[in-house]
Amino acid sequence: MITPCFLIGAIKYYSIFEPEITLTFLTMAQFRLKALDEVLNRRPEPFVREDNLVSNYYGRLVFDQEKMKKYLSADAFNAVMDAINNGTTIDRKMADQIAQGMKSWALENGATHYTHWFHPLTDSTAEKHDAFITHGEKGKVVEAFSGTVLAQQEPDASSFPSGGIRQTFEARGYTAWDPTSPAFISETTLTIPTVFISYTGEALDYKTPLLRALSAVDKAATEVCQYFDKNVTSVQANLGWEQEYFLIDEALYMARPDLILTGRTLMGHSSSKDQQLDDHYFSSIPTRVNRFMQDVENEAYKLGIPVKTRHNEVAPNQFELAPIYEEANLANDHNQLIMDIMQKIARRHKFRILYHEKPFAGVNGSGKHNNWSLSTNNGINLYSPGKNPKSNLLFLTFVINTIQAVFDNQDLLRASIYHAGNQHRLGANEAPPSILSVFLGTEISNMLDLMEESVVDRKMTPDEKTALKLNIGRIPEIILDSTDRNRTSPFAFTGNRFEFRAVGSSANCASALIVLNTVVANQLIKFKNEVEALIEKGTKKDEAIFQVLKNLIIKSKPIRFNGDGYSADWVKEAAKRGLSNVNNVPEAISAYTRPEAGKMFEELGVLTASELHGRVEVEYEKFIKKIQIESRVLADLAINHIVPTAVQYQTLLLQNVKNMKDVFADDEFEQLAGARKDLIREISGHISSIKAKRKDMIEARKKANIIEDIVEKAKAYDETVLPFLADIRYHIDKLELIVDNELWPLPKYRELLFVR
Ligand code: ADP
Ligand code: MG
Repeated sequence: MITPCFLIGAIKYYSIFEPEITLTFLTMAQFRLKALDEVLNRRPEPFVREDNLVSNYYGRLVFDQEKMKKYLSADAFNAVMDAINNGTTIDRKMADQIAQGMKSWALENGATHYTHWFHPLTDSTAEKHDAFITHGEKGKVVEAFSGTVLAQQEPDASSFPSGGIRQTFEARGYTAWDPTSPAFISETTLTIPTVFISYTGEALDYKTPLLRALSAVDKAATEVCQYFDKNVTSVQANLGWEQEYFLIDEALYMARPDLILTGRTLMGHSSSKDQQLDDHYFSSIPTRVNRFMQDVENEAYKLGIPVKTRHNEVAPNQFELAPIYEEANLANDHNQLIMDIMQKIARRHKFRILYHEKPFAGVNGSGKHNNWSLSTNNGINLYSPGKNPKSNLLFLTFVINTIQAVFDNQDLLRASIYHAGNQHRLGANEAPPSILSVFLGTEISNMLDLMEESVVDRKMTPDEKTALKLNIGRIPEIILDSTDRNRTSPFAFTGNRFEFRAVGSSANCASALIVLNTVVANQLIKFKNEVEALIEKGTKKDEAIFQVLKNLIIKSKPIRFNGDGYSADWVKEAAKRGLSNVNNVPEAISAYTRPEAGKMFEELGVLTASELHGRVEVEYEKFIKKIQIESRVLADLAINHIVPTAVQYQTLLLQNVKNMKDVFADDEFEQLAGARKDLIREISGHISSIKAKRKDMIEARKKANIIEDIVEKAKAYDETVLPFLADIRYHIDKLELIVDNELWPLPKYRELLFVR
């Protein structure tokens, strides 16, 4: 039985499920050793797959098109499809019919409850379950579910962050059904993906602006596609996320209050061996972990989440899971859902999962690459080179506009991925730097250079035109065998998509996707306007497109970088090119508050000024609170775990010195006891430093806490509180190396990272 570390001591453990009363008298050090012992006795948990053939049960718990066809009338089915494909609204009567069908299916599949599931501006999803029952006749109950209940709910959700959008007197928040992401059954609950908005209609979640951004990019991209292909009537954004995570044994996790409360280790000397030998990356997956992964996949398949890839990552005990990409909104729901499922399944296998971007200092942290592309209703991937000059020009148009969008909006893209956890990881030579740049590989770079040279701002000669077309037509073969991969780029073109690599592992991908889709939409609109202006002046369409593209290639050149993004040279080079480089959350998020950013979000209908303002407030708040929590946890652990342990060991040493004095003659004693005395002094030095720095840290927090302005407060936390975390840790980590291993209270890195 695992008991969390803070319940250790003389405590009674009562549980209605486990009738015996456990009386625990363990010191933290004993608890750590007991945890290690527990891990040694672990066996892989048994696991039974639903069916050998995934295709036999894939999506079994999803109210997908097939089930809708079966459980809905033709009219109701068409109404849902129309809502999904064309965004039409579903009327009350139809909603009732859909609700009935959904209810029948859910009840047949073991559901007793339903919930509106949403993505508030916290680090997780939210749900509040209601039973289907309602009063029936003669004191009985019946199962009921109506269109109104399906379409809209008013959860008492006043405690979610809104950044001041909701005053307590109008605290109501509404959830509204998102028919584009199918309902599913989670355990025994019919789960309906929803948006979460205020009484006044303002977005309080990630999904609402994501849907708006996706619609903005759909509209803008479709209009640009029309230059090339009249059959394009809609464009969807796709997302393929790659989720990195750590697995830590439950018993060891329970002995680390910092992991439990902050998701990362606030102390811990690095293990003599960790990832130096690169022997974990892609190595054979340990059986216990493999069972966990299979269990996760099994659940994912039932829920229609197309997970495909699993492997060991670079750091010890670090792993990755990736699905086949899907439409971005659905893919993001699936990512949020699987993060929750993985947490639950990890427990079944006596693991705890860590999504924090930097749970361990000195080894790689975790990210979540967002593979992103746009594709058309007629099946064209706009980031895949085509088969002829015309389709390749379409491809290049999207690539070039995307580069321009990244160039113009480096700061906003950074803001979308910067938060307390990711701040530790970005630029730490394991993850993309804080400087935004675009990797294209040599083939595409050469193609852009060629376009830059060959297209001139005058009428092209027929020969020039033919040459250019020929060149443009040449892309496919080259790019398909291009294995050129640059892992150090934050925004890389990888053959048929862009990969936004700076996203953190704990993040809701929507944050990045809202900005990415908005800035690309914005750029596509500008592009079209420029082309139209030239056409109006009499330039032919093709030439107008070439000319605008050429200008964009020239303008956006500074953001293109194929070299090593981790190198110190790049930092200098990027500064010369005028690229921005920001490495702290308060400054990074401030990009959202620039007038031009607000104007763009507003004009494209993604976020109103007040929604954007609220969101930024929430980001500052989250940052402050996270540092505050970490600082408190560290202060507590330092004083009531580490210092007493160091004192205890020091007392042993002192006793030892005293005993020696009794045994040895004075001159011999002086000779023998010197090293021990030095050690005692060293321990005293660290203890004094810890105590003094803890005091200073608390002072810094007090000062920061009274700052009214939230931006200034966040800065104070970043500049005056955060540095103490590293400072205090330094001394604790030194003590860890000195103090008797048997006395040390917290599982060490070598145990957390290697014992399983
Ligand atoms: P890696 O980048 O590590 O080589 P993979 O090749 O496995 O990883 O791909 C990562 C993700 O990219 C997967 O989720 C995959 O489905 C997704 N992906 C592939 N093609 C596209 C595309 N056109 N648009 C969006 N995502 C894509
Ligand atoms: Mg990748």
